[in-house]
Amino acid sequence: MTATTPHVGHPIGVRDLPDGMTPCATCGRPCPEGTPTTERLVLGRDVGLRIVDEAHVLTFAVCPSCADRHALAAEIATQHPGFLALGSPSITADRLAAALDALAAVGATPATDAYLHSYPAARSLLERLSDLGVTAGWARQFSPIWQPRASMKTCAAPSQGGGWLFVPSDLAAEIRRALAAHVGDLRPPTPQPVPATSRYRGCVVCGVGTVTARRVSEAWTEVRSGVYAGGHLCPADARIVTEEGGTIGATVLERSACDVVDPDRLARRRRPYDPQLQGLQAWADSGMAPGPGRWSFVDLEALLALLSHGTW
Ligand SMILES: [Zn+2]
Ligand SMILES: [Zn+2]
Repeated sequence: MTATTPHVGHPIGVRDLPDGMTPCATCGRPCPEGTPTTERLVLGRDVGLRIVDEAHVLTFAVCPSCADRHALAAEIATQHPGFLALGSPSITADRLAAALDALAAVGATPATDAYLHSYPAARSLLERLSDLGVTAGWARQFSPIWQPRASMKTCAAPSQGGGWLFVPSDLAAEIRRALAAHVGDLRPPTPQPVPATSRYRGCVVCGVGTVTARRVSEAWTEVRSGVYAGGHLCPADARIVTEEGGTIGATVLERSACDVVDPDRLARRRRPYDPQLQGLQAWADSGMAPGPGRWSFVDLEALLALLSHGTW
């Protein structure tokens, strides 16, 4: 057998490690002597039917492109004060690094500018991809548990698409699904009309016909039961209905309408109890066309005047 012949029995994407080289802990590519290194702890070895205790440390390389990716992760972690709430900056940087690894594993290009300048973009990256990235790295087959077919005499086979061929296809598919959701998060919000399948042309409570969101599922919540079943709720009313126990009744309608004219409840604080509004009906029962805003089918000025006078 020559050095270029793949060893029979290597999994896809894995080949013999050339002499004098060390595989990168993350992408598995063989690295020459002098490349920076990192250590991984082995706690046990999977021998098929059981795991044998085995505590030692393995040394891997950190190739230049993985080092760059992890430096970018550290930079993203320090850009956004919002990450401080998640705990230690170094843990956040590690999780972001794993998320960027997940992108690299499927050959995807990171949205670097978005991650550096937008906290929601960076947060979406971390939440959707970091756990998958931890699982995807080369060293995962050795640490913490050395897997049955894993050998330190192997490295990753080169891939034309830039992804890592050794990543199991089901994990790669999971990363691509998470990536699609993440790309959806990066899109700017756009107007989302009520779904064409809805029983009504607007939010059954407030009658708004279009809301701004990134995807239909963020914009509209289907009503599953009751007289309005098959209709949809805008995000604000979906939240109110949930908070009020799930039934679209007088309390929901009053709260929804009052929130539109009195969003900070300043007017309503004039009384220790909430107003009871006579004759308020759900938009779905009003017979009116869908509106450009919430409750645009009622006289909102009169409602605000009523709330401001506190005469309820
Ligand atoms: Zn690497
Ligand atoms: Zn609504």
